[in-house]
Amino acid sequence: MLDLSGVIETKKIKNTNETDYLNRVIETTKIKNAREPEFLQAVNEVLSTLKPFINQHPEFEETSLLERLVEPERVIIFRVPWIDDNGKVQVNKGYRIQFNSAIGPYKGGLRFHPSVNLSILKFLAFEQIFKNALTGLPIGGGKGGSDFDPKGKSDNEVMRFCQSFMTELQRHIGEDTDVPAGDIGVGAREIGYLFGQFKRIKNTYEAGVLTGKGTEYGGSLIRKEATGYGLIYFMREMLKVSGKELKDKTVIITGSGNVAIYACQKVQEYGANVIAMSDSNGCIYNRNGIDLSTIQQIKEVDRLRIKEYLKYHPNTEYMENQNGKTRIFEIKADIVLPCATQNEIDLEIAQRLVSNGVLAIGEGANMPTTIEATHYLLENNVLFAPAKAANAGGVATSALEMSQNSMRYYWTSEEVDKKLDAIVTNIFEACQNAAKEYGCDNNYVAGANIAGFMKISKAMMSQGIV
Ligand code: NDP
Repeated sequence: MLDLSGVIETKKIKNTNETDYLNRVIETTKIKNAREPEFLQAVNEVLSTLKPFINQHPEFEETSLLERLVEPERVIIFRVPWIDDNGKVQVNKGYRIQFNSAIGPYKGGLRFHPSVNLSILKFLAFEQIFKNALTGLPIGGGKGGSDFDPKGKSDNEVMRFCQSFMTELQRHIGEDTDVPAGDIGVGAREIGYLFGQFKRIKNTYEAGVLTGKGTEYGGSLIRKEATGYGLIYFMREMLKVSGKELKDKTVIITGSGNVAIYACQKVQEYGANVIAMSDSNGCIYNRNGIDLSTIQQIKEVDRLRIKEYLKYHPNTEYMENQNGKTRIFEIKADIVLPCATQNEIDLEIAQRLVSNGVLAIGEGANMPTTIEATHYLLENNVLFAPAKAANAGGVATSALEMSQNSMRYYWTSEEVDKKLDAIVTNIFEACQNAAKEYGCDNNYVAGANIAGFMKISKAMMSQGIV
């Protein structure tokens, strides 16, 4: 049968009778990317906050700036064949989204998780453009990954997968082109295997081609901790404006991976009491506080389920997920830090959090709160730290790793941590100032989007129609 879907879509776009430039772009993006819900959610979330700024700049419409902004510069999709421990050939999909290079080489992590698809990676790459702009460092936006699941695989299987993935990816990356890093399912082990294969194929020690490397071979001190630490620095600044502090606050953290662990470490250092953490099976809860060293042993060393925590601390409660959903939000706390994955907090959960008297939410994960939930939380005066600003400490420290690689010189932990704190504090101020200037005081979601967009749009305007 003749495929008319393209013709129908074009017709629909022409029929979009939105007169407002912003809404027209949102509608057109919806039609062109109808099968990509997460990407549309991210575009909608960003563009809908830009109105006050866009209205002052007719040149954006004249140069179709928004249409260019929502279209990736390049999308690479490839086959990743590898052989499992039983000698069977497995095939996964590999992706790299090179979304926007207006302010620097594409930069963004790689995610290995069975849920990975084009929509999720495009949403992550799109968000990354704004986050990277907010850091004030010269990095563009990208993201990549695979539907490969490292969970339950042997080290050798993970290595063979990473080698096959890099055999293709190496054609597309470079320290001045595109610099991947870790994300869900990609930690120090995976980055090591990826770097080894890159070096082997290229026959060059291009340390700045990947970040999140081991400190023995070009990694930066504090990179591992940076996303979680940065989240808490942002939260500290946000509370300060309301005359509050982290000390003695109760905290729940979703996830128990890289971001969750180091957010927990830093918030505990500030004297807060972390009472619950989770993984994709369930959550642990102890009103007297969670012992982080046990979590690190279970997650970073043994790579086991969080339920194991009860073997070490039998007085802790374990709540298994119900109908695939975490029960962690049933627990009352002052501060909630979603640090696992996208869309963890929907409207129903937001309503529960508000009725439980939550004071502040800090997004460690990318887009962990739906748009409806975000609006509800803001309307109910919950202090809200949005991901692209609050978790930008990770990529900022990746950029510091790139700088150290270029200089062939390494800063101490204290030096990197100080720079990280300064960058995150600047980001907070940029969000605060943009929010104030465009009439949405204390709305750091709008502030972050506007501040990031101001920088990207200027760079794109300067570079002509590309
Ligand atoms: P990790 O793989 O180290 O940890 C992810 C954690 O989240 C694990 O506890 C995992 O549980 C849980 N999780 C993952 N997917 C799901 C799911 N679908 N449902 C429930 N739980 C889930 O990843 P990171 O800590 O690196 O990343 C966490 C979030 O932070 C992601 O949104 C990522 O994009 C974002 N982020 C990460 C940065 C970094 O530097 N690493 C930088 C900025 C943002 P389980 O082990 O059971 O799967």
